[in-house]
Amino acid sequence: MQTVPLLIDGEFVASASQETIQVTNPANNETIALAPVAQAIEVEKAVAAAKAAFESWKETPVSERSRLMMRYQALLKERHDDIAKVLSSETGKTFADAKGDVWRGIEVVEQAINMPALMMGESVENVARGIDTYSYIQPLGVCTGITPFNFPAMIPLWMFPMAIAAGNTFVLKPSEQDPLTPNLLAELFVEAGAPKGVLNVVHGNKTTVDSLLHHNDVKAVSFVGSVPVGQYIYKTATENMKRAQCFAGAKNHSVIMPDANKAQVLNNLVGASVGAAGQRCMAISVAVFVGSSQEWIEELVPLFNEVKPGLWDDESAAYGPLISPAAKARVQDYIKQGKEQGATCLVDGSEYSVAGYESGNWMGPTLFTDVTPDMTIYRDEIFGPVLCCMRVDTLEEAIALVNANPYGNGTSIFTASGAAARKYQHEIEVGQVGINVPIPVPLPFFSFTGWKNSFFGDLHAYGKQAVRFYTETKTITARWFEDDIPSGPNMTINLR
Ligand code: NAD
Repeated sequence: MQTVPLLIDGEFVASASQETIQVTNPANNETIALAPVAQAIEVEKAVAAAKAAFESWKETPVSERSRLMMRYQALLKERHDDIAKVLSSETGKTFADAKGDVWRGIEVVEQAINMPALMMGESVENVARGIDTYSYIQPLGVCTGITPFNFPAMIPLWMFPMAIAAGNTFVLKPSEQDPLTPNLLAELFVEAGAPKGVLNVVHGNKTTVDSLLHHNDVKAVSFVGSVPVGQYIYKTATENMKRAQCFAGAKNHSVIMPDANKAQVLNNLVGASVGAAGQRCMAISVAVFVGSSQEWIEELVPLFNEVKPGLWDDESAAYGPLISPAAKARVQDYIKQGKEQGATCLVDGSEYSVAGYESGNWMGPTLFTDVTPDMTIYRDEIFGPVLCCMRVDTLEEAIALVNANPYGNGTSIFTASGAAARKYQHEIEVGQVGINVPIPVPLPFFSFTGWKNSFFGDLHAYGKQAVRFYTETKTITARWFEDDIPSGPNMTINLR
């Protein structure tokens, strides 16, 4: 059985740790690899390698750093299918969805190629007579990223390419549930010509993360995962005087106005709620129908019944299994609670299996209606293929409902009215809004801007905000003396 190696100082090395975590194929729960829980000394070596590499990497011209990203982007595209196959093997995602996961990461690498333009500072000539002020941004040092299971390509690629192109070095701690994809991404980064120590990868769990959070040489922490872990990491990182950005869970609402295009809405709702088995932080998990809507909800039933999960290479499969038996049991429990608390279950996907793969973590799509805000299926992030339908009378009520929810990752409104869309985009307290677009994930020239309990920190992932997150600003005020400028002491604070 393969034990996933660590990447330390340019070498893939076996961990000396005796503690391992099984990496499984979610379609049958067979173990396909073992992830080591890296020892504290191994984390120490990874950070030391990154710290040493920073000394020369920060002096490497930004155009050269950008060229590394160009070669990396080309390799990722060349190996797109190979990466997606590995990704499917450890997540169960369909091949098409796995390719999408990789592609959304490649787009961030393309953005990292822009780093020379993104790092341009500001300047003002003659802030006072003969004096100019200008600013540069400079990298921080060793940055670290802690990533979740649900996008094992995209989310590591949200982090290390932007950080490294900005001149930092990096230690990645991927999810222990699917470490093979991040390791392949790291192999390709080395193959693209990354100098040793610029990217390091350590595997493990809380123990490994804690070693990073308490390390004096780690300057910034990027995290994506669940809310309790995000809160813990944000608090611990900032208490240890590190910069932190923590992207967390979600409960995304789609508001459907009576004037929306019905066919478009219904098809979008199915894909956006149960696609990827609902294991997306931007999945739509609540559909809020404004006005009379019984007929629309009833028309969702046959569409949900048509959705068939299946194996990664089955082109007709809508999505794959959940990541683990524990994840499946958790979603089943929520469905049970929804029924007990009075919601109407129109389609129940609790029991589903694929012939020959009965031991996999399969779940069919589940559709609830008559859901109310006090029910746990509304309050909690389910992270499974479950859509909750609710009804309100007015757009104002819909906005109040969404704004009262503690999460603020994404939302969408379906309408033919510009006025309704404008009101919604302006008044809604959610960081990413789609108008007739169900899952409004911004492309990497913007930033990924979750709000409220979906994000702890100030500066978000990718785009210009990531460049700010991974750098420090230095502002220089300069005067060059000419003979005819009078000198002598100046006792005031003003520049003259
Ligand atoms: P998770 O919080 O269980 O794990 C995420 C990472 O944190 C992993 O690397 C894990 O090893 C580490 N970790 C787990 N427990 C820890 C602890 N106690 N202390 C320190 N580190 C710990 O999340 P997950 O189940 O892998 O991912 C799913 C979650 O991620 C969902 O809640 C989803 O909404 C969220 N997510 C959010 C976004 C976003 O952009 N907001 C994107 C993707 C996923």
